[in-house]
Amino acid sequence: MTTLSSPGALRHLFHLPDGVVYLDGNSLGPLPLSAPAATDKMMRDQWGEMLIGGWNKAGWMDMPGALGDRIAPLIGAPTGSVVLGDTLSIKVYQALAAALAMRPDRKTVLSDSGNFPTDLYMAQGLIDHLDQGHALTVVQPENVAGAIDETIGVVMLTHVDYRTGRMHDMAAITQAAHAAGAVVIWDLAHSAGAVALDLAGCEAEFAIGCTYKYLNGGPGAPAFIYVRPDLHETIEPALAGWLGHKAPFAFDLDYAPGHGIQRMRVGTPPVIQMAALSAALDAWDGVSQADMRAQSIVLSEAFIAGVEALGSEAVLASPRDPALRGSHVSFHHPQGYAVMQALIAEGVIGDFRAPDMMRFGFAPLYNTLDDIEAAVSALGRILETESWNAPEFMARKAVT
Ligand SMILES: *Cc1c(COP(=O)(O)O)cnc(C)c1O
Repeated sequence: MTTLSSPGALRHLFHLPDGVVYLDGNSLGPLPLSAPAATDKMMRDQWGEMLIGGWNKAGWMDMPGALGDRIAPLIGAPTGSVVLGDTLSIKVYQALAAALAMRPDRKTVLSDSGNFPTDLYMAQGLIDHLDQGHALTVVQPENVAGAIDETIGVVMLTHVDYRTGRMHDMAAITQAAHAAGAVVIWDLAHSAGAVALDLAGCEAEFAIGCTYKYLNGGPGAPAFIYVRPDLHETIEPALAGWLGHKAPFAFDLDYAPGHGIQRMRVGTPPVIQMAALSAALDAWDGVSQADMRAQSIVLSEAFIAGVEALGSEAVLASPRDPALRGSHVSFHHPQGYAVMQALIAEGVIGDFRAPDMMRFGFAPLYNTLDDIEAAVSALGRILETESWNAPEFMARKAVT
């Protein structure tokens, strides 16, 4: 059993460039040191030598479920309930379509303004396409519980707000939704690998998330979808691709959904990317959710205390109570964009979220208290000297 006895105790498993303090693992996790060799081996020994035989001999076809089983313990889900594939945006669509079909007489989807835009765009696109009179209601995050009533068919929320780190009470909201007869979808993009999760315990019907943030699967790594096991044989996967069919290689002209979570697969899985993800998941072997969460809180508390002690214009945008936030912390600052660019120029990598938030992600596996100290002192220097006030830091880049 690996114990994460201090923040960053598994830093030796990752490549973190010299001179860099990486506080953006909530957006793109760093390179696991074992990933290049794992992908190289997959390409040479499997793709290179086995050619099409790799689908059987190297187990490529089973990887979406096998990797799902390795993600399951990180989200509190049982074996056989999680499968990989596609991108998170696609999984939002797929989960919502299946959820709407479970409540045909209810027409309202409830979400909140703390959701990531793609989730809302996908929901609106699906609703428009269905053209069955559905509507998307978006309320303030603190008003979600009060907005749940018997008109709501589906409650679709992102657990940890991508900007502020504010975290919904997953158990309480799921319970309230179920009491009103609604189906629940949790987006775990900023939760998986960051906060302790108990999907089985909360009994939510669906959960989705990505693997390139805290799970370190690399840019473009596939998304995951969880479906509560009692629904596996009855849900309708709206994206009826051939690899979700019960017998893909029978090449039937008619679709028949596969068994278990397999029916949520769509098409050919990204095998090279999954080889990288598999290496990345090794880092989590034996890491307890309780240790992960405890070290995450040590980091975020130290950062908030450090930044506030600077006595600057930066104002905490995240909940102060660690029980109410995930593993990233944001500060408002009127010059947030330029200040973040100045930080990045000094090797402290966080990011910026409009209109004025500097966001810092803390990954308990590899971020250390030294990272926090270095980030706080760089921020202090930049604010003190106003070195952010330079043309090269003011010009907006395409990816912020
Ligand atoms: C990161 C993130 C996404 C990204 O979706 P992709 O399809 O993987 O680009 C979607 N939703 C949330 C809540 C996110 O945080």
